[in-house]
Amino acid sequence: AADKEKTSYVAKIKVVVRKRPMNKELAKKFHETKLKVDLTGYIEKHEFVFDAVLNEEVSNDEVYHETVEPIVPIIFQCLKATCFAYGQTGSGKTYNMKPLPLRASGDILRLMQHTYRNQGFQLLFSFFEIYGGKLYDLLSDRKKLCMREDGKQQVCIVGLQEYRVSDVKMIEELIERGNATRSTGTTGANEESSRSHAILQLAVKRTIEVNETKLPCLVKKLYFIDLAGSERGADTTDNDKHTRGSKLIEVLRDSFVGNSRTVMISCISPSSGSCEHTLNTLRYVDRVK
Ligand code: ADP
Ligand code: MG
Repeated sequence: AADKEKTSYVAKIKVVVRKRPMNKELAKKFHETKLKVDLTGYIEKHEFVFDAVLNEEVSNDEVYHETVEPIVPIIFQCLKATCFAYGQTGSGKTYNMKPLPLRASGDILRLMQHTYRNQGFQLLFSFFEIYGGKLYDLLSDRKKLCMREDGKQQVCIVGLQEYRVSDVKMIEELIERGNATRSTGTTGANEESSRSHAILQLAVKRTIEVNETKLPCLVKKLYFIDLAGSERGADTTDNDKHTRGSKLIEVLRDSFVGNSRTVMISCISPSSGSCEHTLNTLRYVDRVK
């Protein structure tokens, strides 16, 4: 109950909108839409209310501050959390997601070294993807993985490589490696990353000694999920609608029950060519809350 009290000030579900800037490539083909910070449409007017709206001037630091930062300390109090990036291909999902686990692990490691010093905590890092309804390890040559539930209804991914990490530099390298494996995929086409969900997992594990025996206990997980492009449907990875949606839900089944937190970063493009997708994205995440 005490833990519950401590964690209750962080909203259970938070929805944040991030607008990316125009660049030369977009400007060649499209105008910039009059999409303002308040997201009031130019010709048609649509109004939505979100927890935060971050425009193109906002730094990655501020994105972290608005989304994941408040969740990090409460991971140590038995809490699961998931941060999603949602939006069409090219809207900035990967751009926004990439620095977040890095910052979060920096904060987690600092808490381990100071507040929770000598209490047996470890940080474990894994990175995998769901592509065509199947799981692949992004840190071991896309090795195929399978999933099962353990006796305590915790989802377990069999064979998933876990790296014990103790400094941010190592995490940065693992993120780079995973992202590179993902975007090149098997065919070398950039197309691949728009069809797959990339799931980066930070697990905080604690080892307690009982009668001189070391017992690993309770793992709390923080997931960072770079979703497949929303233009293909919310859970799209292939043409089989049933498989593609359910695999992600299966993997995340134990993430939303009990004491959990969810942050949705909905990424939108400023381009006039993306108006329809932008509106779809805003409508979709508007229903999340
Ligand atoms: P997605 O993962 O949704 O397909 P990306 O993250 O790859 O989209 O972003 C598409 C392009 O836009 C990339 O070149 C990325 O660097 C750029 N971009 C996205 N968001 C921003 C931003 N806020 N500031 C600067 N560049 C951005
Ligand atoms: Mg991407």
